[in-house]
Amino acid sequence: MERVILHCDLNSFYASVELLDHPELKDAPVAVCGDPESRHGIILAKNEGAKAFGVKTAETIWQARKKCPGLVLLPAHHEKYHRYSRLVNDVYERYTDLVEPFSIDESWLDVTGSLHLFRTDGKGLADRLRREVREALGLTISVGVSFNKIFAKMGSDYKKPDATTVITRENFQALLWPLPVDALIFVGAAAARTLSGYGIRTIGDLARFDRAALITILGKQGAVLHDYAVGTECAPVIPAGELPPPKSVGNGLTFPKNLLGWEELGAGVALLSDEVAARLRRLDMKCGTVQITVRDPAFHDISRQKGLEIPTYLAREITGTALKLLRQSWNPRSPVRALTVTAQNLLPAGEAVEQLDLLSPQSAPRREKVERLERAVDGIRGKYGKDAILSARLKKPPSP
Ligand SMILES: [Mg+2]
Repeated sequence: MERVILHCDLNSFYASVELLDHPELKDAPVAVCGDPESRHGIILAKNEGAKAFGVKTAETIWQARKKCPGLVLLPAHHEKYHRYSRLVNDVYERYTDLVEPFSIDESWLDVTGSLHLFRTDGKGLADRLRREVREALGLTISVGVSFNKIFAKMGSDYKKPDATTVITRENFQALLWPLPVDALIFVGAAAARTLSGYGIRTIGDLARFDRAALITILGKQGAVLHDYAVGTECAPVIPAGELPPPKSVGNGLTFPKNLLGWEELGAGVALLSDEVAARLRRLDMKCGTVQITVRDPAFHDISRQKGLEIPTYLAREITGTALKLLRQSWNPRSPVRALTVTAQNLLPAGEAVEQLDLLSPQSAPRREKVERLERAVDGIRGKYGKDAILSARLKKPPSP
């Protein structure tokens, strides 16, 4: 039987969640950023109003303000985004038990087996989900409906906000093949440049290219991308509970304008680490190693790791370690195109506490206090939103 897969994508997710607490700003250009006080802070998300001024994710505040002097800046609240993400997935789970979160604001749903219960087709269910999420939570989603996960995802990208796009075996060539090749998932700037060297500029070019030759050019990735383009990809939707626990938690950004100097680099690292720490706490896991990856404008990457004496899920410790690694390995006069902070060697938070007790029994109680504090901050931020609490890190640019 032909599968019916939905891909649901929350529109301008972080900005939309922040605006729930600021209805008076609905029509203003609004951006969410790591540090509203610093002109070197980095834009993390923006609403449609800010988009209209050309404000881009991952640029610095001063770059955004040049384009949009009236831009309203709100600080990020990662725990709150995780809470809303859970609530939205709860809505999806009323319609199928096959819900696979792909990121904090995107999920795949396999509704093949449950459509008949709701006496509708894929498009009907997608429209119903959009209405329900809007009415229940005040957030909008774009939904793609298709026969595989990749085309469903492309459908949710096709039209937004608050829209449904159906990609069928009959229309996928007309709708998707004219799109640039980097509109395909997992085709980054580097792969797109390689492909353009072979005259492959659109998804259609990729689909028509000789499969064996693609494998010669890109290795295994060549075969995967060819399957995506011709519509033969057929991976199952795997519910969250059945996915193995993550081996690492990473967060990266490619900056539209290169970062330069410790102030901008520090703001970038703090922003990425804050989200990594929030995700670790949500998983109730700690990391034993922190890795930072820096990409220069010529697409050269360097990666450095550092093991921690004591495993952590605290933002300040992950930020501190990542910055230390960066200071040891990077010349601040060199521009940075992309940064990634990754927490590795994950272990359940409970096990980490036992290890700590064995290592240094005297420091354990104090540490527990700091952790309780950071968790309490998560709770307060989640509950009262906005700038209920701003840590010193968020108020002042880090000084490496
Ligand atoms: Mg989204």
